[in-house]
Amino acid sequence: MQAFCNLKASEVLVPKPLIVNDKLGFCDVREAYLAFDEPLLNEALLASDMLALPIGRHAGHTKSVVQLRQRVETESVSECAYRIEIEPDSILCESSSAEGIWYAVQILRQLFATFETLIPCSTICDGPSYAWRGFMLDTARHFFTVEFIKKLLDLAAQHRLNRFHWHLTDDQGWTIPVKDYPKLVHRNSSSYSNEEIREIIAFASARHIEVIAEIDMPGHMLGALSAYPAFGCTKGPYSIATDGGIFEDVLCMGNDDAITFAKTVIREVAELFPSRYIHIGGDECPTVRWQECSLCKARMKDLHIASSSGLQRWFTNEMIRVATDSKKIPICWDDVSDTEEHKRVSKQCIVMVWRNSESALRFAKEGYQVVMCPKLDGCYLDYRHLDTPEEPGTIGVNTVRSSYEFSIPEGNRNLMLGGQANVWTEKICSEERAEYMLFPRLCAISEALWLPKHKKNFVDFTSRLEIHTRRLIKQGVNVYRGPLQ
Ligand SMILES: [Zn+2]
Repeated sequence: MQAFCNLKASEVLVPKPLIVNDKLGFCDVREAYLAFDEPLLNEALLASDMLALPIGRHAGHTKSVVQLRQRVETESVSECAYRIEIEPDSILCESSSAEGIWYAVQILRQLFATFETLIPCSTICDGPSYAWRGFMLDTARHFFTVEFIKKLLDLAAQHRLNRFHWHLTDDQGWTIPVKDYPKLVHRNSSSYSNEEIREIIAFASARHIEVIAEIDMPGHMLGALSAYPAFGCTKGPYSIATDGGIFEDVLCMGNDDAITFAKTVIREVAELFPSRYIHIGGDECPTVRWQECSLCKARMKDLHIASSSGLQRWFTNEMIRVATDSKKIPICWDDVSDTEEHKRVSKQCIVMVWRNSESALRFAKEGYQVVMCPKLDGCYLDYRHLDTPEEPGTIGVNTVRSSYEFSIPEGNRNLMLGGQANVWTEKICSEERAEYMLFPRLCAISEALWLPKHKKNFVDFTSRLEIHTRRLIKQGVNVYRGPLQ
Protein backbone atom coordinates (compact mmCIF):
# COMPACT_ATOMS: atom_id res chain seq x y z
CA MET A 1 0.00 0.00 0.00
CA GLN A 2 2.73 2.44 -0.96
CA ALA A 3 0.09 4.99 -1.96
CA PHE A 4 -0.33 5.66 1.74
CA CYS A 5 3.26 6.72 2.37
CA ASN A 6 2.18 10.33 2.78
CA LEU A 7 -0.04 9.36 5.72
CA LYS A 8 0.92 9.56 9.37
CA ALA A 9 0.50 6.89 12.03
CA SER A 10 -2.27 8.92 13.69
CA GLU A 11 -4.32 8.76 10.50
CA VAL A 12 -4.61 5.02 10.06
CA LEU A 13 -5.26 3.30 13.41
CA VAL A 14 -8.60 1.76 14.53
CA PRO A 15 -9.47 1.96 17.36
CA LYS A 16 -7.48 5.15 17.73
CA PRO A 17 -4.95 5.12 20.57
CA LEU A 18 -5.23 7.74 23.32
CA ILE A 19 -2.12 9.63 22.26
CA VAL A 20 -0.28 9.42 18.93
CA ASN A 21 2.50 11.94 18.38
CA ASP A 22 3.58 11.83 14.75
CA LYS A 23 7.25 12.57 14.04
CA LEU A 24 9.42 13.08 11.00
CA GLY A 25 11.16 10.12 9.41
CA PHE A 26 10.58 6.41 8.98
CA CYS A 27 11.74 3.12 10.39
CA ASP A 28 12.74 0.81 7.55
CA VAL A 29 11.57 -2.64 8.63
CA ARG A 30 12.64 -4.55 5.51
CA GLU A 31 15.49 -6.26 7.31
CA ALA A 32 14.24 -5.84 10.85
CA TYR A 33 14.28 -8.55 13.47
CA LEU A 34 12.29 -9.08 16.63
CA ALA A 35 13.74 -9.09 20.14
CA PHE A 36 11.77 -9.69 23.33
CA ASP A 37 11.91 -10.23 27.06
CA GLU A 38 11.47 -13.87 28.02
CA PRO A 39 8.00 -13.62 29.68
CA LEU A 40 6.64 -12.28 26.37
CA LEU A 41 7.35 -15.47 24.39
CA ASN A 42 3.67 -16.01 23.42
CA GLU A 43 3.27 -12.45 22.18
CA ALA A 44 6.65 -12.59 20.40
CA LEU A 45 5.83 -15.81 18.52
CA LEU A 46 2.53 -14.38 17.33
CA ALA A 47 4.13 -11.02 16.51
CA SER A 48 6.86 -12.72 14.49
CA ASP A 49 4.17 -14.43 12.45
CA MET A 50 1.81 -11.45 12.13
CA LEU A 51 4.54 -8.93 11.29
CA ALA A 52 6.63 -11.40 9.25
CA LEU A 53 9.70 -10.61 11.36
CA PRO A 54 12.39 -13.16 12.20
CA ILE A 55 13.14 -13.57 15.89
CA GLY A 56 16.66 -12.62 16.92
CA ARG A 57 19.49 -11.03 15.03
CA HIS A 58 20.81 -12.95 12.05
CA ALA A 59 23.33 -12.01 9.42
CA GLY A 60 21.51 -9.61 7.13
CA HIS A 61 18.91 -8.67 9.73
CA THR A 62 20.80 -5.80 11.21
CA LYS A 63 19.05 -2.72 9.98
CA SER A 64 16.46 -2.26 12.66
CA VAL A 65 14.99 -3.97 15.67
CA VAL A 66 11.42 -4.34 16.91
CA GLN A 67 11.66 -4.83 20.63
CA LEU A 68 8.99 -6.12 23.05
CA ARG A 69 9.98 -5.10 26.55
CA GLN A 70 8.35 -5.72 29.88
CA ARG A 71 8.77 -2.77 32.13
CA VAL A 72 8.11 -2.26 35.80
CA GLU A 73 6.43 1.03 36.50
CA THR A 74 3.45 2.40 38.30
CA GLU A 75 2.38 5.62 36.62
CA SER A 76 0.24 4.17 33.82
CA VAL A 77 -3.56 4.53 33.73
CA SER A 78 -4.20 0.81 33.62
CA GLU A 79 -2.38 -2.47 33.84
CA CYS A 80 -2.65 -3.09 30.13
CA ALA A 81 -1.43 0.34 29.09
CA TYR A 82 1.47 0.33 26.67
CA ARG A 83 3.87 2.65 24.90
CA ILE A 84 5.41 2.43 21.43
CA GLU A 85 8.41 4.46 20.32
CA ILE A 86 9.03 4.28 16.57
CA GLU A 87 12.45 5.70 15.64
CA PRO A 88 14.51 5.43 12.43
CA ASP A 89 16.46 2.37 13.63
CA SER A 90 14.15 0.80 16.19
CA ILE A 91 10.61 0.19 17.33
CA LEU A 92 10.24 -0.24 21.07
CA CYS A 93 7.02 -1.61 22.62
CA GLU A 94 6.82 -1.39 26.40
CA SER A 95 4.20 -2.42 28.93
CA SER A 96 4.06 -3.79 32.43
CA SER A 97 1.77 -6.58 31.20
CA ALA A 98 1.74 -9.13 28.38
CA GLU A 99 -1.73 -7.85 27.50
CA GLY A 100 -0.36 -4.34 26.95
CA ILE A 101 2.39 -5.73 24.72
CA TRP A 102 -0.26 -7.63 22.80
CA TYR A 103 -2.14 -4.38 22.10
CA ALA A 104 1.10 -2.76 20.96
CA VAL A 105 1.62 -5.65 18.54
CA GLN A 106 -1.90 -5.07 17.14
CA ILE A 107 -0.98 -1.43 16.50
CA LEU A 108 2.15 -2.55 14.65
CA ARG A 109 0.06 -5.02 12.67
CA GLN A 110 -2.10 -2.17 11.36
CA LEU A 111 0.94 0.03 10.67
CA PHE A 112 2.83 -2.78 8.89
CA ALA A 113 -0.26 -3.69 6.81
CA THR A 114 -0.65 -0.07 5.71
CA PHE A 115 2.92 1.18 5.31
CA GLU A 116 4.56 -2.20 4.60
CA THR A 117 8.24 -1.25 4.76
CA LEU A 118 8.63 2.35 5.92
CA ILE A 119 6.81 2.81 9.21
CA PRO A 120 6.35 6.50 10.10
CA CYS A 121 8.13 7.58 13.29
CA SER A 122 5.83 8.31 16.20
CA THR A 123 5.27 7.94 19.91
CA ILE A 124 2.10 6.16 21.03
CA CYS A 125 0.88 6.10 24.64
CA ASP A 126 -2.29 4.15 25.14
CA GLY A 127 -4.64 2.14 27.30
CA PRO A 128 -8.34 1.22 27.19
CA SER A 129 -11.19 3.14 28.82
CA TYR A 130 -13.20 0.03 29.69
CA ALA A 131 -12.11 -3.41 30.84
CA TRP A 132 -14.96 -5.25 29.09
CA ARG A 133 -14.78 -4.86 25.31
CA GLY A 134 -16.43 -7.73 23.56
CA PHE A 135 -18.62 -9.34 21.00
CA MET A 136 -21.27 -12.04 21.21
CA LEU A 137 -21.88 -14.66 18.54
CA ASP A 138 -24.99 -16.85 18.46
CA THR A 139 -24.00 -20.30 17.18
CA ALA A 140 -27.36 -21.89 18.05
CA ARG A 141 -29.44 -20.20 15.33
CA HIS A 142 -26.70 -20.57 12.77
CA PHE A 143 -23.79 -22.91 13.28
CA PHE A 144 -20.36 -21.51 12.47
CA THR A 145 -17.22 -23.57 11.90
CA VAL A 146 -14.25 -23.52 14.25
CA GLU A 147 -12.17 -21.93 11.48
CA PHE A 148 -14.65 -19.09 11.09
CA ILE A 149 -14.83 -18.43 14.83
CA LYS A 150 -11.02 -18.26 14.85
CA LYS A 151 -11.12 -15.78 11.99
CA LEU A 152 -13.53 -13.59 13.97
CA LEU A 153 -11.45 -13.91 17.13
CA ASP A 154 -8.35 -12.77 15.30
CA LEU A 155 -10.27 -9.84 13.79
CA ALA A 156 -11.61 -8.94 17.23
CA ALA A 157 -8.06 -9.07 18.59
CA GLN A 158 -6.95 -6.64 15.88
CA HIS A 159 -9.51 -4.22 17.32
CA ARG A 160 -8.07 -4.74 20.83
CA LEU A 161 -11.27 -6.43 22.01
CA ASN A 162 -10.90 -8.84 24.90
CA ARG A 163 -14.18 -10.74 25.46
CA PHE A 164 -15.95 -13.37 23.35
CA HIS A 165 -19.45 -14.14 24.61
CA TRP A 166 -20.44 -17.44 23.06
CA HIS A 167 -24.21 -17.98 22.87
CA LEU A 168 -24.18 -21.78 22.65
CA THR A 169 -27.80 -22.82 23.23
CA ASP A 170 -31.24 -21.69 22.17
CA ASP A 171 -34.61 -22.82 20.83
CA GLN A 172 -33.00 -23.56 17.47
CA GLY A 173 -30.09 -25.66 18.69
CA TRP A 174 -27.78 -26.84 21.45
CA THR A 175 -24.16 -26.67 20.36
CA ILE A 176 -22.15 -27.87 23.38
CA PRO A 177 -21.90 -31.45 24.68
CA VAL A 178 -22.79 -32.25 28.31
CA LYS A 179 -21.48 -35.61 29.58
CA ASP A 180 -24.56 -36.74 31.52
CA TYR A 181 -27.00 -35.66 28.81
CA PRO A 182 -25.66 -37.07 25.51
CA LYS A 183 -28.93 -36.61 23.64
CA LEU A 184 -28.49 -32.81 23.74
CA VAL A 185 -26.03 -32.90 20.88
CA HIS A 186 -27.22 -36.10 19.22
CA ARG A 187 -30.62 -34.55 18.64
CA ASN A 188 -29.07 -31.36 17.30
CA SER A 189 -27.60 -31.39 13.85
CA SER A 190 -24.45 -29.41 14.60
CA SER A 191 -22.42 -28.94 17.73
CA TYR A 192 -18.86 -28.42 18.89
CA SER A 193 -16.82 -31.18 20.52
CA ASN A 194 -15.00 -30.50 23.79
CA GLU A 195 -11.74 -30.59 21.83
CA GLU A 196 -13.00 -27.94 19.41
CA ILE A 197 -14.17 -25.76 22.29
CA ARG A 198 -10.75 -26.09 23.96
CA GLU A 199 -9.09 -25.25 20.66
CA ILE A 200 -11.14 -22.06 20.37
CA ILE A 201 -10.45 -21.11 24.00
CA ALA A 202 -6.69 -21.60 23.50
CA PHE A 203 -6.70 -19.61 20.26
CA ALA A 204 -8.58 -16.77 21.96
CA SER A 205 -6.48 -16.89 25.10
CA ALA A 206 -3.24 -16.53 23.13
CA ARG A 207 -4.83 -13.34 21.75
CA HIS A 208 -5.83 -12.09 25.21
CA ILE A 209 -9.52 -12.74 24.60
CA GLU A 210 -11.54 -14.38 27.37
CA VAL A 211 -14.22 -16.81 26.14
CA ILE A 212 -17.45 -16.66 28.14
CA ALA A 213 -19.96 -19.45 27.56
CA GLU A 214 -23.65 -18.74 27.72
CA ILE A 215 -26.22 -21.41 28.51
CA ASP A 216 -29.53 -19.62 28.08
CA MET A 217 -32.02 -20.76 30.77
CA PRO A 218 -34.84 -21.24 31.72
CA GLY A 219 -36.38 -19.85 28.49
CA HIS A 220 -35.03 -20.37 24.97
CA MET A 221 -34.77 -24.08 25.85
CA LEU A 222 -36.33 -25.98 22.94
CA GLY A 223 -32.87 -27.16 21.92
CA ALA A 224 -32.71 -29.05 25.24
CA LEU A 225 -36.42 -29.92 25.58
CA SER A 226 -36.54 -31.57 22.17
CA ALA A 227 -33.89 -34.01 23.45
CA TYR A 228 -35.26 -34.30 27.02
CA PRO A 229 -39.02 -33.59 26.85
CA ALA A 230 -39.47 -34.64 30.50
CA PHE A 231 -37.85 -31.32 31.52
CA GLY A 232 -40.75 -29.30 30.12
CA CYS A 233 -44.07 -28.69 31.89
CA THR A 234 -46.21 -30.47 29.25
CA LYS A 235 -43.59 -33.21 28.64
CA GLY A 236 -43.71 -32.53 24.90
CA PRO A 237 -43.08 -33.80 22.37
CA TYR A 238 -41.07 -30.75 21.42
CA SER A 239 -39.13 -29.98 18.30
CA ILE A 240 -36.27 -27.63 17.60
CA ALA A 241 -37.50 -24.26 16.39
CA THR A 242 -36.84 -23.53 12.75
CA ASP A 243 -37.62 -19.81 12.91
CA GLY A 244 -37.00 -17.05 15.43
CA GLY A 245 -39.28 -15.81 18.20
CA ILE A 246 -40.11 -16.41 21.83
CA PHE A 247 -41.54 -19.83 22.64
CA GLU A 248 -43.81 -20.69 25.54
CA ASP A 249 -42.28 -24.09 26.25
CA VAL A 250 -39.51 -23.49 28.78
CA LEU A 251 -37.80 -25.46 31.54
CA CYS A 252 -40.23 -26.77 34.19
CA MET A 253 -39.48 -25.12 37.52
CA GLY A 254 -41.24 -27.81 39.54
CA ASN A 255 -39.44 -30.88 38.18
CA ASP A 256 -36.39 -31.74 40.32
CA ASP A 257 -34.76 -33.60 37.42
CA ALA A 258 -35.02 -30.47 35.28
CA ILE A 259 -33.38 -28.38 38.02
CA THR A 260 -30.64 -31.02 38.45
CA PHE A 261 -30.11 -30.93 34.70
CA ALA A 262 -29.65 -27.15 34.73
CA LYS A 263 -27.20 -27.30 37.65
CA THR A 264 -25.20 -30.12 36.04
CA VAL A 265 -24.88 -28.15 32.82
CA ILE A 266 -23.62 -25.08 34.69
CA ARG A 267 -21.06 -27.14 36.64
CA GLU A 268 -19.76 -28.92 33.56
CA VAL A 269 -19.55 -25.79 31.43
CA ALA A 270 -17.81 -24.00 34.31
CA GLU A 271 -15.22 -26.75 34.31
CA LEU A 272 -14.63 -26.68 30.55
CA PHE A 273 -14.19 -22.90 30.26
CA PRO A 274 -11.30 -21.32 32.20
CA SER A 275 -13.00 -17.89 32.10
CA ARG A 276 -13.75 -16.10 35.37
CA TYR A 277 -17.34 -15.74 34.13
CA ILE A 278 -20.28 -17.85 33.04
CA HIS A 279 -23.43 -16.47 31.41
CA ILE A 280 -26.61 -18.15 32.63
CA GLY A 281 -29.05 -16.41 30.27
CA GLY A 282 -32.44 -15.48 31.68
CA ASP A 283 -33.95 -13.45 28.83
CA GLU A 284 -37.43 -13.69 27.33
CA CYS A 285 -38.93 -16.43 29.49
CA PRO A 286 -42.74 -16.66 29.26
CA THR A 287 -44.45 -18.05 32.37
CA VAL A 288 -47.71 -19.39 30.87
CA ARG A 289 -46.69 -23.05 31.18
CA TRP A 290 -45.66 -22.59 34.82
CA GLN A 291 -49.04 -21.10 35.66
CA GLU A 292 -50.78 -24.26 34.49
CA CYS A 293 -48.28 -26.90 35.64
CA SER A 294 -49.05 -28.81 38.83
CA LEU A 295 -45.34 -29.32 39.63
CA CYS A 296 -44.59 -25.62 39.14
CA LYS A 297 -47.58 -24.66 41.29
CA ALA A 298 -46.40 -27.08 44.01
CA ARG A 299 -42.92 -25.47 43.88
CA MET A 300 -44.45 -22.02 44.31
CA LYS A 301 -46.44 -23.25 47.31
CA ASP A 302 -43.39 -24.92 48.91
CA LEU A 303 -41.24 -21.82 48.53
CA HIS A 304 -44.05 -19.35 49.34
CA ILE A 305 -43.61 -17.72 45.95
CA ALA A 306 -46.59 -15.57 45.09
CA SER A 307 -46.07 -14.99 41.36
CA SER A 308 -44.73 -16.96 38.43
CA SER A 309 -42.01 -14.32 37.88
CA GLY A 310 -40.83 -15.23 41.39
CA LEU A 311 -40.16 -18.73 40.08
CA GLN A 312 -37.63 -17.42 37.58
CA ARG A 313 -35.96 -15.34 40.29
CA TRP A 314 -35.72 -18.43 42.53
CA PHE A 315 -34.29 -20.49 39.62
CA THR A 316 -31.79 -17.79 38.66
CA ASN A 317 -30.60 -17.45 42.26
CA GLU A 318 -30.12 -21.25 42.37
CA MET A 319 -27.99 -21.05 39.20
CA ILE A 320 -26.05 -18.08 40.58
CA ARG A 321 -25.24 -20.20 43.63
CA VAL A 322 -24.04 -23.13 41.48
CA ALA A 323 -21.93 -20.75 39.40
CA THR A 324 -20.32 -19.10 42.43
CA ASP A 325 -19.74 -22.55 44.03
CA SER A 326 -17.92 -23.38 40.78
CA LYS A 327 -15.77 -20.26 41.34
CA LYS A 328 -17.38 -18.32 38.50
CA ILE A 329 -18.92 -14.88 38.35
CA PRO A 330 -22.40 -15.36 36.85
CA ILE A 331 -23.85 -13.02 34.22
CA CYS A 332 -27.57 -12.65 33.43
CA TRP A 333 -29.59 -10.74 30.85
CA ASP A 334 -31.34 -7.73 32.39
CA ASP A 335 -34.78 -9.42 32.19
CA VAL A 336 -34.04 -11.32 35.40
CA SER A 337 -34.29 -8.14 37.41
CA ASP A 338 -37.61 -6.87 36.14
CA THR A 339 -39.24 -6.82 39.57
CA GLU A 340 -39.04 -4.40 42.49
CA GLU A 341 -35.57 -3.85 43.89
CA HIS A 342 -35.91 -5.98 47.02
CA LYS A 343 -37.07 -8.91 44.89
CA ARG A 344 -34.23 -8.85 42.38
CA VAL A 345 -31.66 -11.57 41.86
CA SER A 346 -28.46 -11.78 43.86
CA LYS A 347 -25.96 -8.97 43.35
CA GLN A 348 -23.24 -11.57 42.85
CA CYS A 349 -24.51 -11.61 39.30
CA ILE A 350 -23.38 -9.17 36.57
CA VAL A 351 -26.34 -7.68 34.70
CA MET A 352 -26.04 -7.53 30.93
CA VAL A 353 -28.21 -4.62 29.81
CA TRP A 354 -29.65 -5.21 26.33
CA ARG A 355 -33.14 -3.73 26.28
CA ASN A 356 -32.97 -0.21 27.55
CA SER A 357 -29.74 1.67 28.19
CA GLU A 358 -31.38 3.89 30.83
CA SER A 359 -31.68 0.93 33.18
CA ALA A 360 -27.89 0.52 33.30
CA LEU A 361 -27.22 3.28 35.83
CA ARG A 362 -30.18 2.15 37.94
CA PHE A 363 -28.67 -1.34 38.20
CA ALA A 364 -25.28 0.14 39.03
CA LYS A 365 -26.81 2.37 41.72
CA GLU A 366 -28.32 -0.72 43.29
CA GLY A 367 -24.87 -2.31 43.37
CA TYR A 368 -24.85 -4.59 40.34
CA GLN A 369 -21.90 -4.74 37.99
CA VAL A 370 -23.09 -3.93 34.48
CA VAL A 371 -22.05 -4.85 30.94
CA MET A 372 -23.89 -2.91 28.25
CA CYS A 373 -25.12 -4.06 24.83
CA PRO A 374 -28.31 -1.99 24.32
CA LYS A 375 -30.01 -3.16 21.15
CA LEU A 376 -31.11 0.28 19.95
CA ASP A 377 -27.81 2.03 20.71
CA GLY A 378 -25.68 0.47 18.02
CA CYS A 379 -24.87 -2.80 19.80
CA TYR A 380 -27.18 -5.25 17.98
CA LEU A 381 -25.36 -6.05 14.77
CA ASP A 382 -28.06 -8.34 13.39
CA TYR A 383 -30.06 -5.14 12.87
CA ARG A 384 -29.92 -3.57 9.42
CA HIS A 385 -27.22 -1.03 8.52
CA LEU A 386 -29.79 1.29 6.99
CA ASP A 387 -33.54 1.72 6.96
CA THR A 388 -33.99 0.55 3.37
CA PRO A 389 -35.89 -2.55 2.18
CA GLU A 390 -32.95 -4.09 0.34
CA GLU A 391 -30.63 -4.00 3.37
CA PRO A 392 -30.45 -7.41 5.09
CA GLY A 393 -30.99 -7.92 8.82
CA THR A 394 -33.58 -8.17 11.54
CA ILE A 395 -36.21 -5.64 12.61
CA GLY A 396 -34.15 -2.71 13.87
CA VAL A 397 -31.62 -0.35 12.32
CA ASN A 398 -28.19 0.46 13.72
CA THR A 399 -26.00 2.57 11.46
CA VAL A 400 -22.21 2.60 11.73
CA ARG A 401 -22.62 6.05 13.24
CA SER A 402 -24.99 4.81 15.95
CA SER A 403 -22.50 2.04 16.80
CA TYR A 404 -19.77 4.69 17.01
CA GLU A 405 -21.92 6.86 19.25
CA PHE A 406 -22.62 4.04 21.69
CA SER A 407 -21.28 5.08 25.06
CA ILE A 408 -21.28 3.83 28.62
CA PRO A 409 -23.20 6.29 30.83
CA GLU A 410 -21.11 8.40 33.19
CA GLY A 411 -21.29 7.57 36.88
CA ASN A 412 -20.72 4.48 39.05
CA ARG A 413 -17.53 3.97 37.10
CA ASN A 414 -16.29 1.02 39.12
CA LEU A 415 -19.47 -0.97 38.40
CA MET A 416 -19.82 -0.14 34.70
CA LEU A 417 -17.49 -2.78 33.27
CA GLY A 418 -17.90 -1.93 29.61
CA GLY A 419 -19.88 -3.21 26.66
CA GLN A 420 -20.11 -5.46 23.68
CA ALA A 421 -21.69 -5.98 20.27
CA ASN A 422 -24.17 -8.84 19.83
CA VAL A 423 -24.74 -10.84 16.66
CA TRP A 424 -27.93 -12.90 16.73
CA THR A 425 -28.12 -15.23 13.78
CA GLU A 426 -31.80 -16.05 13.08
CA LYS A 427 -31.45 -14.21 9.78
CA ILE A 428 -27.73 -14.73 9.22
CA CYS A 429 -27.26 -17.82 7.12
CA SER A 430 -23.63 -17.61 6.02
CA GLU A 431 -20.19 -16.52 7.12
CA GLU A 432 -20.16 -13.79 4.46
CA ARG A 433 -23.39 -12.36 5.84
CA ALA A 434 -22.08 -12.49 9.43
CA GLU A 435 -19.00 -10.51 8.36
CA TYR A 436 -21.18 -8.01 6.51
CA MET A 437 -23.23 -7.41 9.66
CA LEU A 438 -20.14 -7.20 11.91
CA PHE A 439 -17.91 -4.93 9.85
CA PRO A 440 -17.39 -2.06 10.13
CA ARG A 441 -19.84 -1.68 13.04
CA LEU A 442 -17.61 -3.76 15.29
CA CYS A 443 -14.73 -1.41 14.41
CA ALA A 444 -16.91 1.53 15.54
CA ILE A 445 -17.84 -0.18 18.81
CA SER A 446 -14.23 -1.11 19.50
CA GLU A 447 -13.34 2.59 19.38
CA ALA A 448 -16.41 3.54 21.44
CA LEU A 449 -15.19 1.21 24.21
CA TRP A 450 -11.51 2.05 23.87
CA LEU A 451 -11.53 5.86 23.87
CA PRO A 452 -13.01 8.14 26.51
CA LYS A 453 -16.14 9.84 25.17
CA HIS A 454 -14.50 13.26 24.78
CA LYS A 455 -11.78 11.80 22.55
CA LYS A 456 -14.21 10.30 20.05
CA ASN A 457 -14.71 12.04 16.69
CA PHE A 458 -16.87 10.45 14.02
CA VAL A 459 -15.44 12.44 11.09
CA ASP A 460 -11.90 11.51 12.09
CA PHE A 461 -13.04 7.88 12.51
CA THR A 462 -14.54 7.73 9.02
CA SER A 463 -11.32 8.86 7.37
CA ARG A 464 -9.30 6.26 9.31
CA LEU A 465 -11.98 3.69 8.52
CA GLU A 466 -11.30 4.06 4.78
CA ILE A 467 -7.74 2.86 5.30
CA HIS A 468 -8.86 0.24 7.80
CA THR A 469 -11.51 -1.15 5.43
CA ARG A 470 -8.81 -1.82 2.84
CA ARG A 471 -6.87 -3.77 5.48
CA LEU A 472 -9.97 -5.84 6.28
CA ILE A 473 -10.73 -6.53 2.62
CA LYS A 474 -7.14 -7.62 2.09
CA GLN A 475 -7.75 -10.23 4.80
CA GLY A 476 -10.80 -11.51 2.95
CA VAL A 477 -13.44 -9.86 5.14
CA ASN A 478 -16.81 -9.09 3.55
CA VAL A 479 -17.20 -5.49 4.75
CA TYR A 480 -20.39 -3.43 4.38
CA ARG A 481 -19.50 -0.43 2.17
CA GLY A 482 -22.77 1.57 2.14
CA PRO A 483 -23.62 4.87 3.87
CA LEU A 484 -22.40 5.13 7.45
CA GLN A 485 -25.34 7.13 8.76
ZN1 LIG B 1 -43.68 -27.02 35.30
